Amino acid sequence: MINIEHVTKKYGDFTAVNDLSLTVESSEFLVILGPSGCGKSTLLRLINKMIERNDGVITVNGENIDDLKGVQLRKTIGYVIQNIGLFPHMNVYKNIATVPRLLKWNEDTIAKRVSDMLALVGLEPTIYQVKTPAQLSGGEAQRIGVARAMASDPEILLMDEPFGAVDPINRLRLQKEFRKIQRKLKKTVVFVTHDTDEALLLADRICIMNKGEIVQVDTPENIVLHP
Ligand code: ADP
Ligand code: ADP
Repeated sequence: MINIEHVTKKYGDFTAVNDLSLTVESSEFLVILGPSGCGKSTLLRLINKMIERNDGVITVNGENIDDLKGVQLRKTIGYVIQNIGLFPHMNVYKNIATVPRLLKWNEDTIAKRVSDMLALVGLEPTIYQVKTPAQLSGGEAQRIGVARAMASDPEILLMDEPFGAVDPINRLRLQKEFRKIQRKLKKTVVFVTHDTDEALLLADRICIMNKGEIVQVDTPENIVLHP
C-alpha cells in the first residue's frame, strides 16, 4: 500500500504537485489521468525517490520512503517509462537482469528469471541473444521494459505512459495482456496516462489530476469525464 500525505513539489517558484494526498491499495490498478503538465510524472518520481519533495510524507507498506535505501527501494518498486526506458548500450538480457544483478542474485537464477520474464510478456527467449534495444520494435521494447521492471518481483509498479509509443493495434494487445498479468500476480500499479480510453480500460480507480492537484478519484463507472 502506498500512502501519500499532503505532498508538495516545487520546481523553483512553480508548484508542480500541491498538497496532494492519495492512498493506493495493495493489488490495485490505479490510473492517474490528466492533461500534459498537470504533475503526473512528478508524482511518480516522488514515490520512486527520483526527486525530493518539498513537503509531506510518503509511506510504502507503512514505511517512510525516506528510510528506504536505494536497493531496497528498487526491490519494492519497479518503474516503466515510455521509449527511453532501456539502457541502449546493454543487450536485452542485461537490461532485464539489471536489478537482479544489483541484488546479487546468482547468474543461474537470473538467467532463469530473464527467460521467465520474457515468456511472461510474450517474447521468444532468443530475443535477448540477438538484439540490442535499437533493433527492437516499439512493442518489443515496451514488453522488455515491463519485463525488466518485474524482474526482481517488485510489489509495486509505477508506469509512466508505458504504451504511448506503441502502434494502436499492439497497444490494445499489450494493455489487455498487461492487465491480465497484473491481476494474476496481484501487483500494485500506479499508471500514468493522458489517454481517457486507456484509463477507462485499465483502471480499478481513476485519479484525475489538474494543475498539481487531484480533482476526482473514483471507479471508471462512476468517474465524471468532461469532453
Ligand atoms: P505531466 O507528467 O502531467 O505531463 P510533469 O509532472 O512532467 O507533468 O510536469 C508538471 C509541471 O512541472 C510541468 O509544467 C513541467 O513543465 C514542470 N516540470 C517538470 N519537471 C521539471 C523540472 N525538472 N524543472 C522545472 N519544471 C519542471
Ligand atoms: P509456473 O512457471 O510455475 O507455471 P506461474 O504460472 O505462477 O508459474 O507464473 C508464470 C510466469 O510468471 C512465470 O514466468 C513466472 O516466473 C512468473 N511469476 C510467477 N510468480 C511471479 C511473481 N510473483 N512476480 C513476477 N513474476 C512471477
